[in-house]
Amino acid sequence: MAKPDHPDICVVGGGIVGLSCAYFLAQNGHSVTILERDSVGSHASGFAYGSLSPLGEAGLAQDILPELALARQAMSIHTEWAKTLPELTGVDTQHRFRPALDIAFSEKEVALGKSQVEWRSKEDGYRSEWLDGNQAREIVPEISKGVVGAAYTEGVADLDPYRLSLALAQACESMGASIRHGEVIGMDQPNGKVLTILTANDRIQCDSLVLAMGPWSGIISKWIDAKVPIRPLKGQILRLDAGDLEINCSVGWRGSYACTKPDGLLWTGTTEEDVGFNETPTPSGRDSVIESLTKMIPNLEEARIVEHTACLRPLSADGKVIVGPVQNKTNVFIASGTGRKGILLGPALGKIICDLITLGQSHLDIEPFRLSRFQN
Ligand SMILES: Cc1cc2nc3c(=O)[nH]c(=O)nc-3n(C[C@H](O)[C@H](O)[C@H](O)COP(=O)(O)OP(=O)(O)OC[C@H]3O[C@@H](n4cnc5c(N)ncnc54)[C@H](O)[C@@H]3O)c2cc1C
Repeated sequence: MAKPDHPDICVVGGGIVGLSCAYFLAQNGHSVTILERDSVGSHASGFAYGSLSPLGEAGLAQDILPELALARQAMSIHTEWAKTLPELTGVDTQHRFRPALDIAFSEKEVALGKSQVEWRSKEDGYRSEWLDGNQAREIVPEISKGVVGAAYTEGVADLDPYRLSLALAQACESMGASIRHGEVIGMDQPNGKVLTILTANDRIQCDSLVLAMGPWSGIISKWIDAKVPIRPLKGQILRLDAGDLEINCSVGWRGSYACTKPDGLLWTGTTEEDVGFNETPTPSGRDSVIESLTKMIPNLEEARIVEHTACLRPLSADGKVIVGPVQNKTNVFIASGTGRKGILLGPALGKIICDLITLGQSHLDIEPFRLSRFQN
């Protein structure tokens, strides 16, 4: 029986990635301690839009395809969790399948959208078709008259990311994991085996360590003597009371999106701001989100902003996730770099880390995602 101060595994970070790792590890019978300096889901994992778009939003196929195997796995875990997490915890994660309508205003956007439809329609479990402007307005009458076409995709989903974080945390605890408050400030592995995790007030020993610190992962470089090129990319989101207006698809355009969520509010975003670790919502961020929203859905004079949030995406130097063992250390693993897709991909990263620790290998090919790719 593991002692409270010597769990089998410590997971640093209580976002979707750390919680997913802890979930699978606890489910596999390991004693797990999650160390979180704020509270679970208090950063991007609690304040994201919550779209599960394995086939991308408005991105190019080549941006999405490298991670598609992870996205497929993640989507199937999310579908299973939609049933099991509420049963286990009583928390409704508000997971639902709803279509996406990626709209186009110009010939260039039409060409991009049509190419998306072409490869999306080959993917099992999804239905995608190209619509002209009038057909798109039949699906969502509120979109702009300037829309000349849209990629319509069924099989995608969304959820409430904060509720998901909460449900995962409770599920972890119900399987015996503990969540401790504290900021990890370093680690030590003197004999190359047992690990000591240092917080301001504590020293915790464990056999394996999972670092899932989101945009703050860069600091790990100092602990493991290896480059961890992850930086924060700020994004802002608004939730609006738009009266009776209900947008039942996720309408997307150039990386912006809008959809009415089960809470009755119209959620819309976003920005991409390279401003360091600043998580403060700003008037310019708000204006930029409103500008994109009203380009997509113009008649919103009556709408009122109810909530304005900002949070940070963990973006790796090449835009792809980082998952796997850390070279130079034994039994130390990293999972991060999920960028704009961490709510979707978090569960797949969790499963990979659990398989690496439990079985010594991953069921998915992690070669393109290893930290070692940055070391030359
Ligand atoms: C505006 C916006 C909208 C988004 N929308 C979507 C979406 O629709 N779909 C999607 O799939 N993704 C979306 N994302 C991306 C997604 O939110 C992130 O990729 C994901 O939440 C990252 O999860 P994480 O667990 O790695 O990081 P985080 O959620 O940031 O969690 C990391 C945790 O680690 C803790 N931590 C850090 N350092 C330490 C330390 N030293 N000691 C202890 N604890 C520490 C932090 O306090 C934090 O709680 C969005 C992101 C933004 C910003």
